[in-house]
Amino acid sequence: MALISDTDLRAAIRSIPDYPKPGIVFRDITTLLGNARAFRRTVDELVQPWAGMKIDKVAGIEARGFILGGAVAHQVSAGFVPIRKKGKLPHATVRIAYSLEYGLDEMEMHEDAVSKGERVVLVDDLIATGGTAEGAVKLLRQLGAEVLAACFVIDLPDLGGADKLRRLDVPVRTLISFEGH
Ligand code: AMP
Repeated sequence: MALISDTDLRAAIRSIPDYPKPGIVFRDITTLLGNARAFRRTVDELVQPWAGMKIDKVAGIEARGFILGGAVAHQVSAGFVPIRKKGKLPHATVRIAYSLEYGLDEMEMHEDAVSKGERVVLVDDLIATGGTAEGAVKLLRQLGAEVLAACFVIDLPDLGGADKLRRLDVPVRTLISFEGH
């Protein structure tokens, strides 16, 4: 399969203005996922700096982080751990509140999903304000995980999320950035 260029990877993302509300440009990765070359390149590139290192688990954030994180976990021969909205996981959980643009929500992991000292890479499709990823990092650390890195296809740098994670000592990998919200 031929390599896809950076320009084509960017073009594989569909941008939908004023969704889900006026002023927001929704970055839709379903078009990227549906493009075999773009999907493969994305998965390869996301963990490229950590290729060859021991990774015990990949943690994906519901729901688009499950699709990408599952493929990444397979690629690096790691286990996969889902981080979900509250009330979805059937076994005993740990929970954390995190900030959204308006208000708070809560996310959960199974308390036995990672063990103390395990090396974990966090995956989601996009980082905006970083509230979601910050909550996920805190949950993973609460269970004693070592968060090796957080990887996102898309960065919205004007919203400061990647910098917020770096201030928590998490190396951040993003593939494509878009200006604005
Ligand atoms: P944040 O917590 O502000 O970093 O928001 C990140 C989460 O919200 C990710 O799970 C994204 O999937 C979603 N998200 C935020 N902004 C957008 C956007 N413009 N387009 C698509 N998804 C977004």
